[in-house]
Amino acid sequence: MHGHQARKRFGQNFLADAHYVRRIVAAVDPQPGDNVVEIGPGLAALTGDLIERIGHVSAVEIDRDLAARLRARFTPAQLTLHEADALAFDFASFGPRLRVVGNLPYNISSPLLFHLAEYDSMLHDLHVMLQKEVVARMTASPGTADYGRLTVMLGAKFRITRLFVVPAGAFRPAPKVESALARLVPLHDEKPSLDDEALFARVVAAAFAQRRKTLRNALSALASTQQLEAAGILPSARGETLALGDFARLANVLAAGSVL
Ligand code: SAM
Repeated sequence: MHGHQARKRFGQNFLADAHYVRRIVAAVDPQPGDNVVEIGPGLAALTGDLIERIGHVSAVEIDRDLAARLRARFTPAQLTLHEADALAFDFASFGPRLRVVGNLPYNISSPLLFHLAEYDSMLHDLHVMLQKEVVARMTASPGTADYGRLTVMLGAKFRITRLFVVPAGAFRPAPKVESALARLVPLHDEKPSLDDEALFARVVAAAFAQRRKTLRNALSALASTQQLEAAGILPSARGETLALGDFARLANVLAAGSVL
């Protein structure tokens, strides 16, 4: 920990196992010239290896003390450091084909993933360490307990793969949960076509807000029984049984605005 007192409010669990650092950097496989940004470099477990491989990375770190250490350790030619909140950061400022890497603060991982998803058109890929359960939700299949809003909203923009599990003992301090590295690759042209993305998000949120409800009830404020049927969806079904394509079709029927 090099004398640093880990701050819980910033979700600080530092990677302290060289084996996993190597495996993560190998999974990212950064190449010279890649546009890499690390979220939350912390004590530079990953940053050091990344810079060794490709010479330069950018980073966003919220903790003032850690930012000062990073500035002392790396030159501006090696590290472009933004002392800022990644949740509010404009990732478009990094330019296109952005490769995001991060052992993410778990207390904000879902909102951070939603924030990053807004930049999907300019992203090349993301390699993010998350709580294992969150990765299970991101990669779940319809009809399972893990399948939900996170699965559908991220699945609408990314192909998501769980790469490997990282045990709690690889971190200092050790978290209470296991972690997993996930790779997210933007779908770009293969994205489901959505006429109204905000409406799609509302439909998905409503469908999962009360998982036990039928869609007829859960979506009563948004869709009529006839509109559900026009989208080929059984009003008596539950949201957790619908695939991404079903949600997209329903949102597009609603966006067309025909009150059936
Ligand atoms: N990358 C380091 C590692 O693997 O050892 C640190 C990982 S630690 C789980 C999360 C890091 O994200 C910490 O350095 C923390 O200060 C930083 N962080 C927390 N919230 C942040 C935010 N909103 N924006 C930017 N960085 C944040």
